[in-house]
Amino acid sequence: MNKPSSWVWMVFVLLIIVPTPAGKFIIDLAGGILLTITLIPLIIGGIGWFTWKRIQSKMQTCEACGSTFLNNQFICPICGTTIRDTTDNRENIPASAATIDIKSENLD
Ligand SMILES: [Zn+2]
Repeated sequence: MNKPSSWVWMVFVLLIIVPTPAGKFIIDLAGGILLTITLIPLIIGGIGWFTWKRIQSKMQTCEACGSTFLNNQFICPICGTTIRDTTDNRENIPASAATIDIKSENLD
């Protein structure tokens, strides 16, 4: 249960502390916390944006039904339309993916 009087005392104590070096430290700390609180969403937003862009670059849209899915698939998981020929667009596949592809082919 919140006592309003305790808040009044906190403000009163803060007003006494503020002109002292301890008060300056608290203000700096509060400023730092405020800056962190402001920066964290920006950083998270930035990371989220880059992640989204990365995901988008790995996504492709089905021409038949317009659904979006990871471009490592050759057949649309929604409508079953063949998106691309597995043998044709090898240049477009990143080196690591191509290596995995070749390995799986050799196993077959
Ligand atoms: Zn589709």
